[in-house]
Amino acid sequence: MRARTLGLLAAQTLVLSALGCRAVPSHPRWEHRLDHGVVRAEDPAQADEVAALVRAALPSVQALPGTHRRPLVLHVVEQLPNELMDGATFHIVDLPDDAGNGSDTYPLEWIEICADALPRRRLSLIAHELTHFYLGEVWGVLPQVVEEGLAQLVSTQVDPRYGAEIRVENAVALATAISGGLTVEMPRPAEASAPADGEPELVPWWVSGEVDTSQLPTAREALALDANGMWTIEDAGSQRVLYGLGYLLASRIGVDGLYALCQRARAEGLERVPAEWLFEAAELDLEDPLLWKPAIRGLLGEQEHLVFVRRFDRRR
Ligand SMILES: [Zn+2]
Repeated sequence: MRARTLGLLAAQTLVLSALGCRAVPSHPRWEHRLDHGVVRAEDPAQADEVAALVRAALPSVQALPGTHRRPLVLHVVEQLPNELMDGATFHIVDLPDDAGNGSDTYPLEWIEICADALPRRRLSLIAHELTHFYLGEVWGVLPQVVEEGLAQLVSTQVDPRYGAEIRVENAVALATAISGGLTVEMPRPAEASAPADGEPELVPWWVSGEVDTSQLPTAREALALDANGMWTIEDAGSQRVLYGLGYLLASRIGVDGLYALCQRARAEGLERVPAEWLFEAAELDLEDPLLWKPAIRGLLGEQEHLVFVRRFDRRR
């Protein structure tokens, strides 16, 4: 069963070896041709719908620095290799020469998204995967966790409404990992005594997620993980924390700042942007996550408060 409540983490980059399992894309029957690629699905209406979402998300993704213009291949499928995933971008490496490299029928890179991904998060999911798909070579030195943060950041710009939910998930996951959760001030239920001045009375509400902290890497270890290394962590809550960390860093550094760090790392011949550079640019302490608390709070504004209110209302 797909873990719906964890849907936000379920957008991932996979680097596959051609010798590994599932290195060939599925091939849904219906095609919707785009100027710059193709969307395929088992249902023509679904192909059209997803193609429209691609068109909506593409300008923001292609406005990123250092993207390339490879033809898009996006398939809407019933199931992805990992049941926690709602979407994935596949990059094949070590493909044998006789396999028709980069042809339309055997692409080196393609996106798969689940047919039953929640409709209200589909635009966000597609923006996220398109970011992985279009990032060019310069970005290759960015730690995978931070690339996930960048993909989330772009998705929140494409779909700000769903972005508030992403920030809530990230803040709750990080706070849970660091100190067990966080307190949010919520309006007291309307049926309770209404104060005369009309201002709703606020009550503290403790919010937390589920994280198996025994599986949680340190920040430094997290930034050393590659795409497949991230998926060796089986605890979904710990995965969620990694996405939260990536988002916290990416949102504080910004797209241009991240790109500059990648360029600098490449100029210095480094394989990966060092964790120290990222934490310095984000003005966060690499060694002491307890000091991140104000930054985590900083993810939460009015829109995020409304997300909490909706969840709070459902629970009372
Ligand atoms: Zn991703």
